[in-house]
Amino acid sequence: MKKVAVQCRNIRLAYGSTEVLKDVNLDIAPGEFFALLGPSGSGKSTLLRLIAGFNQHQQGQLLVDGLDITGRAPADRNIGMVFQSYALWPHLNVWDNVAFGLVERRLDRATIQAKVGAALDTVGLSAYGPRKPHQLSGGQQQRVALARTIVIEPQVLLLDEPLSNLDKTLRVQMRRELLALQRRLGITTIFVTHDQEEAMTTADRMAVLDKGVVQQVGTPMALYDEPANTFVAGFVGTMNQLQAQVRGWHAQTLTLALEGLGELQVPVPAARVEALAQARQVALCFRPHALQVVAADTPRDLHAPTADAQTLWLPGTVEAAEFMGESTRYRVRAGSQVLAVDQAHQPGRAQLTAGAPIRLGLAAAQLRLFAA
Ligand code: ADP
Repeated sequence: MKKVAVQCRNIRLAYGSTEVLKDVNLDIAPGEFFALLGPSGSGKSTLLRLIAGFNQHQQGQLLVDGLDITGRAPADRNIGMVFQSYALWPHLNVWDNVAFGLVERRLDRATIQAKVGAALDTVGLSAYGPRKPHQLSGGQQQRVALARTIVIEPQVLLLDEPLSNLDKTLRVQMRRELLALQRRLGITTIFVTHDQEEAMTTADRMAVLDKGVVQQVGTPMALYDEPANTFVAGFVGTMNQLQAQVRGWHAQTLTLALEGLGELQVPVPAARVEALAQARQVALCFRPHALQVVAADTPRDLHAPTADAQTLWLPGTVEAAEFMGESTRYRVRAGSQVLAVDQAHQPGRAQLTAGAPIRLGLAAAQLRLFAA
């Protein structure tokens, strides 16, 4: 099967005066497993349905394999979509559900037999042909929905929150199956989810949407390590965001005031100086595991070896500890703000108790600064 690209060019869609998609630009590569990630109401489903042909944009172009398909009816698009609800025909058995699209296309009987058999085989449901949807588990219904979609050999596969109706264990198993299937078929797949873990674990690349605007596009790791703004920083993984007032600049060092913590000298990477030059307030963003934790009375020379000038130290007080197995997550009060701090667990290492005064060491390289 030929792998095709999907491109959105300056797509705008509004319902009356409500703009739901604002100048969306995306380049999805042939064969890519691409996730649309964003909170509820950010426009993900609207964009997916637009690609399927169920919604019409007012501006911009939608290209599949280089061809503008704007205005084409869903049936003329050769795009398959799996809905969140699966939308199986309850009165038809599994075989007939999967055969439905082929019968509609008036294929001959032998071809239908062969294609349905192959599709059910692909999703591991060969033995389930005679069953009705209500005689299947959620995961099996999901697989029937997938089989029914891939049987028509679409150029593009669209998945709208396909795993959200499944319980946690099944969701993890199904997302592996889904990815394996996608790899086997090599079909360009666009996947909508509000679950960042789901997006991160499966997608080759993803786009984060908020309020109809694409905030950032990239690999899960790129978005995690180098978020473009505080929205992406807060949405992809857990991120601490400390608010600080800008007091002044000295060369490439910012002097910041943090409520209840006094002043902090923060080195700014050359590439970020321009973006922050006019900021009066900044958000200091860092991951819970990026912090070194030491008891407040630990002598400086017993801190883990770092180039001290590049490590920022903040005083804090432990408020609560949650043992999570591989690590302990502490809630730490730092001035007027509360931080999440993860410390890797080593057997025998005592947990810090609530009320314990500590110091948090943050390597400057792990810090991301944004104008707030
Ligand atoms: P998501 O999939 O990210 O949860 P949606 O694409 O479903 O978001 O919705 C985006 C926004 O568009 C929401 O504010 C929603 O209320 C609005 N919306 C969606 N469909 C319609 C419609 N048919 N008419 C009016 N507003 C709509």
